[in-house]
Amino acid sequence: MKKHNFGAGPCILPVEVLQKASEAVINLDNSGLSLIEISHRSEPFVKIMDKARSLVRELLDIPASHSVIFLQGGASLQFMMIAQNLIKKGGKAAYTDTGVWSSKAIKEAKLFGNIEVIASSENNDYRNIPKEYIIPSDIDYFHCTSNNTIYGTQMRHFPECPSVMVCDMSSDIFSREIDVNKFDLIYAGAQKNMGTAGATLVIVRDDILGKTGLKIPIMLDYKEHIYRESMNNTPPVFAIYVSMLTLQWVKDKGGVKALEKMNTEKAKLLYDAIDNNKYFKAKVSGQDRSLMNVTFDVENSKSELFELLCSENGIVGIKGHRISGGYRASIYNAMPIESIRVLVDIINKTQ
Ligand SMILES: *Cc1c(COP(=O)(O)O)cnc(C)c1O
Repeated sequence: MKKHNFGAGPCILPVEVLQKASEAVINLDNSGLSLIEISHRSEPFVKIMDKARSLVRELLDIPASHSVIFLQGGASLQFMMIAQNLIKKGGKAAYTDTGVWSSKAIKEAKLFGNIEVIASSENNDYRNIPKEYIIPSDIDYFHCTSNNTIYGTQMRHFPECPSVMVCDMSSDIFSREIDVNKFDLIYAGAQKNMGTAGATLVIVRDDILGKTGLKIPIMLDYKEHIYRESMNNTPPVFAIYVSMLTLQWVKDKGGVKALEKMNTEKAKLLYDAIDNNKYFKAKVSGQDRSLMNVTFDVENSKSELFELLCSENGIVGIKGHRISGGYRASIYNAMPIESIRVLVDIINKTQ
């Protein structure tokens, strides 16, 4: 039976990507060599890295002022790297707290400076995106999380920022158009919407770097990674290759704009089904609803039936995060609308 994997991450990838990636592990482009055995400094791999970088630039229309690098350590390592690279001695940064991932980012940054939480949706169990806040100008940077994977909230608008603007886009990068000019640093772990675990994408405006007056170890210094074109040490070759293939797939689909349209349509289908069933309740309402992670509750009397129908129809990965409970359907770029129709059918049948 076909499985419909609604898991939040690692995410599903397009079948074509999995096919090509598995072939390359055995025999990269008929070279007679495996992707994961060749030198990362060999021409074939350098070309893969260049292609991955240029696809990122092209798909997000990145200005020349910004560099694109692939790092390791996941988005979680970025929580501290941002702070270490941007907070000056005795400096401070401002954060919005929109749930687990931003809280973790805040905790790590506190090791490097004074962190001010200027807005939080904690008292609403993180079911909304805070909007009424003022970003101070006497900070080294402002940090926000564009899509809150666990709670299913997403920023529709980004505030004007009088300082350096940093955003964790791990779970919605390449899912919608963004104006990269508005951001000074964007980071994303690859495994939600871009590829497989092991690579982290960082897009950074070069001229914000090197200003802390503090020494940074090489592996944690963005400037070094930019200078060495993400080849400071052995990069995660397989993860970068899978990202490259996925980005090529995004391009072939018509780019980010086309995907945004499809993602909007997919999410609407699902939210409508939830809103139209009296036993179901979306956790987030209105504008703040995520197009990537649809979170909802099912009335106790119907949850057994719902789960039974899910398992009978090959739906997996739909349990909510252990922190927030309920259910969560993650519908990233690669999730086909056909799978969403299967879930919608089940929601309609849960009566
Ligand atoms: C998953 C996730 C992270 C953590 O990513 P890792 O690559 O596992 O460290 C951080 N931020 C957001 C928004 C996420 O969804």
